[in-house]
Amino acid sequence: MAEPRLLIEQKLESGAAIALDEAQARHAGTVLRLNVGDTLRMFNADDGEWRARIVEKSKRGMGATIFEFIRPARAAPDLDLLFAPVKRHATDLIVEKAAELGVRRIFPVTTQRTIAETVRVDRLSTIAREAAQQTERFDAPEIHEAQSLPRALDGWDISRRLIYADEAGDDANAPWGGDTGRALPIAEALGSGPEGSRSMALLIGPEGGFTMEERRMLRSLPYVVPVSLGPRILRAETAAIAALSVIQALWGDWRRA
Ligand code: SAH
Repeated sequence: MAEPRLLIEQKLESGAAIALDEAQARHAGTVLRLNVGDTLRMFNADDGEWRARIVEKSKRGMGATIFEFIRPARAAPDLDLLFAPVKRHATDLIVEKAAELGVRRIFPVTTQRTIAETVRVDRLSTIAREAAQQTERFDAPEIHEAQSLPRALDGWDISRRLIYADEAGDDANAPWGGDTGRALPIAEALGSGPEGSRSMALLIGPEGGFTMEERRMLRSLPYVVPVSLGPRILRAETAAIAALSVIQALWGDWRRA
C-alpha cells in the first residue's frame, strides 16, 4: 500500500508540529493503523506534499512532525459538478467518485423532480476528503449547501461551460441535436476542447429526469452544452461517473500535458 496521505489545512513546512483533529486522528488510527514512529504524507493545495512522522498518540488525538518535502502542488482542472441529490447511498457514491475523478467543487441542486433528501454537507465532505486523500490530488472537493437549480445558475459566469447530461430529447426518434431532438453525443459535443476558457461544470439530473420546462430553460442558456451519454438511460450515479470520465479525457487532465 502506498504511504498514507492526509489532507491538512494547517501550514505545512519543514519541522512543523501538526496536531491531527479528532476525526483525522480516528481515521489515522483505525483505518490507516498508524502508530508512533510511522511515517505518512501530508498535503494541501498551497504547500504541496510533505513527509511526516507520528510522534504522539493518545485517546484525544495524534501529533506528527514534518521532516521532508516531497513535491509541490499540481494545478487541477477547473471542473465542478452540479447534481440533483438522489438516495443516500447513490449520493455518497457520486461524491466519492467525483473526488476520484478530479472534481473541484460539488453543488447539490434541487430540481422540479428532485425527491427531497437532506444533504449533509459535513458527511459528504468527509467522504470527499477520504476519497481525495487516496488519489494523489492536492485538494478535496468543496461541498456546497443544496440550492435550487435556478439559484445555482443565477449569476453564472458565462465563460464556464455547463455540460448538461440531457437523457431525453422531446422526441426519441428525432435526429440528434437541434432544438427538439436529442442532444449531441458527448464526444461530438465536446470535440477537442472549448475555445478559450477551460472552466467547466457538469449537470446531472434526478431519477425522474428534468422536466420539459427545465430542458427548455437549460437549452436556451448560452453557456450550456447539452450532451447525450448514449442510447441507454443511466442511473444518475452512473451518468455522473461516465460523463466525468469523458470530460476528463477530452477537456480535462487525462490528456497529455
Ligand atoms: N428521465 C429518466 C431518468 C433520468 S436518469 C426517466 O425516468 O426515464 C438521471 C439523470 O442522469 C438524467 O437527468 C441525466 O442527467 C443523466 N442521464 C442518464 N442517462 C443519460 C443519457 N443516456 N444521456 C444523457 N444523460 C443521461
